[in-house]
Amino acid sequence: MSKFNLRTRLFFSHILVIVLGLGTFVAIVKYSSPRFFILRLEQLERRGFLTVRSARTYLINGFQSALNSGTFWSFAVGISTSGGLSYWLAQRITKPLNVMQQITQKFASGQLEERMPATDIPELNELAMSFNRMANSLEGVEQRRRELISDLTHELRSPLTVVRGYLEELSDGAIAPSPEIYLRLVRETKRLERLTHDLQELSKAEAGYLPIHLQSVNLYPLLTSLVERFSDQLMEDSPTLRLEYAENLPLAIADLDRTEQVLVNLIGNALRYTETGSITVKGWRDRDRLWIAVEDTGVGISQQDLPFVFERFWRADRSRSRYSGGTGIGLAIARRLIELQNGKIEVESELGKGSIFRFHLPLV
Ligand code: ADP
Repeated sequence: MSKFNLRTRLFFSHILVIVLGLGTFVAIVKYSSPRFFILRLEQLERRGFLTVRSARTYLINGFQSALNSGTFWSFAVGISTSGGLSYWLAQRITKPLNVMQQITQKFASGQLEERMPATDIPELNELAMSFNRMANSLEGVEQRRRELISDLTHELRSPLTVVRGYLEELSDGAIAPSPEIYLRLVRETKRLERLTHDLQELSKAEAGYLPIHLQSVNLYPLLTSLVERFSDQLMEDSPTLRLEYAENLPLAIADLDRTEQVLVNLIGNALRYTETGSITVKGWRDRDRLWIAVEDTGVGISQQDLPFVFERFWRADRSRSRYSGGTGIGLAIARRLIELQNGKIEVESELGKGSIFRFHLPLV
């Protein structure tokens, strides 16, 4: 690091340039001008201006002293005006830089709301704007991190409290051990297991670490096998599950495994939240998009809840979903997976009537 700051260095470099410029100019003038002057006098003498000869020394001295005072004044005025100008310029550049430095230091020490002010130097303004963009995104990340930790603590607390409560009562002899109690404990630990698994998936999907292999795929075989697999698990009183998908639909650009993961979640949810009626998996083409939808005739989601369904840990009815083992992460993962495949997922629903979850993928 240099021991001089930018402002001093800018100032002295300007002064140096001025001194060099003026010095060269003066040196050349001092060296060559008297010669030209003498040559000119000699020409005049040769042409017969006799008075010139007698005044020669006087003229040369006069010229020399005019030259000297000219040199002095050009140095004095030149250095002071350009020095002043250079100081002003250096100040103008370094002032916003100093402000920027202070702001970055504050930002680094955790004051994430700090932003760069606009300056009238376009390049510095550009830099300030890039910094502000970066600051916005870092602030968002920090905000999401805080939300995640608070959601997570909330989610972990309840199964842990239940498990601890039962274990304490069992050890005190306050309750007698029974298969139901153990089953309850197993269910709560399974919930914790599912939570950690879902969280791992979500963090991978959000950080973009999930490998996505996009290729031209025919989704028909995947849909038929999924519908068969889920139908096998259906009980007599379960809703019916069917597929409406034309076999000759075009190929989509997608990752089969990830699309399967999304569909398993959507169909699983539809089955979980539908008591009677039907669940229909549909596929159709709309211009350059392939749409897949999972429609159910289940409990539905209220209009005010709809905007939140894809947010992690969100559940319409926390206690009911807790009982059914939901973590509220499935749809957050599904949305991210669809986005990673350059598609979009949306929901339409009416309380008590049913829901439609649909997403589109690009066509080949
Ligand atoms: P979960 O593991 O809780 O199902 P999801 O992220 O998959 O997590 O779903 C979040 C919430 O959205 C659910 O808890 C439920 O309240 C609501 N939900 C999802 N799918 C449906 C559906 N098909 N019908 C009604 N509600 C649904």
